[in-house]
Amino acid sequence: MSKRTRTSKIDKWIKEGRGSGIGADYKPWLNIQDVSSVGRSTRLKGIKTGRQHEFLSDLERNYFYLTEYSDFVIDIREQFPLFPLEDTIVIADELGIKHPTDPYPDELIYSAISRFHFYSGNTSFVETLEELFQSRSLVPSIEFGSHFSTLVQNLGSNYSVESLLAQNTIYPYFAPFITIERQKKLFEDVSTNGQGIHGRLGISGGKISRKQGLFYCSKCANNDINIFGEPYVHREHQLQGIEYCPHHELTLKMYPVDYREFSRNGYIRFDRRQMDLSELQEIESCEFKEVQVKLAKMAYRLLQIPINQFSIEKVFKKYRTLLRENNWLMTNTRLKREELFRAFISKFPQGFFRKI
Ligand SMILES: [Zn+2]
Repeated sequence: MSKRTRTSKIDKWIKEGRGSGIGADYKPWLNIQDVSSVGRSTRLKGIKTGRQHEFLSDLERNYFYLTEYSDFVIDIREQFPLFPLEDTIVIADELGIKHPTDPYPDELIYSAISRFHFYSGNTSFVETLEELFQSRSLVPSIEFGSHFSTLVQNLGSNYSVESLLAQNTIYPYFAPFITIERQKKLFEDVSTNGQGIHGRLGISGGKISRKQGLFYCSKCANNDINIFGEPYVHREHQLQGIEYCPHHELTLKMYPVDYREFSRNGYIRFDRRQMDLSELQEIESCEFKEVQVKLAKMAYRLLQIPINQFSIEKVFKKYRTLLRENNWLMTNTRLKREELFRAFISKFPQGFFRKI
């Protein structure tokens, strides 16, 4: 079983042991260098714990002094992460404050909006749309999104249109295969009303069938529940033509809600009670598993590439060089078309292309 190659900050920090341990072994979830705060930060060696503490404000430091001198306190753990989520929802509710919704690693912005709506306690989606987008007439998009320039203002300074597009949409799956000019236009599309997106990517009415529904991997969902307290919609599971999870090599399952039945402004939130979280799978149905898993992993790698790194111009140049190097060109411009086609097809198992 291949290891998960996710490199998100949260995953990385959990692996480093941040937010866990006791006494001298406790590691703060946040360190001073992680936060670009305007407040005064302090590092102090604790007497009780015997380790260095990280304080992001004078208030935190002063509270530390109180706990350090109190006989009732036996351990001090600052910058403690608030997992699982069920608890923080209750806390926010009791205090009458809004529960923050940061997108999770590889979460579609669509999914983060659905969670935001759920915690907000808003009775209609229109209220949520107004809060996030200052718009009542926004049409949800699963793969991309729109009005990002308004959205990032409401999300705070940690986000930009570019970071959302790169990390929380399936756009990087397409970016290397469109022109620089189109990349720029698409950036404008998501910043504003999003209308031109599908046309610009050439996927409206395209031949490759679009996925009908939202998909998930049982093992990813179980991991997410363990780490974050809830499952969410991963972008790498919604890609056209991809039927396996790149991390766990399990077939993706469709979430049992017909999104066409949802009202126009609806956002579906994954509810674990509706999901099949068993990680056992029948093997006989996986005819083209090997090649499909490879494709899923390659697709996931595409999602991680910085969105401005490639364009069709660069890709085209690279292909030309490769064609020349491998002797697929008859003259400077003419291609050995038939032979190349046969060589390409022979790389895949028989019948594979008919199936997809
Ligand atoms: Zn998975």
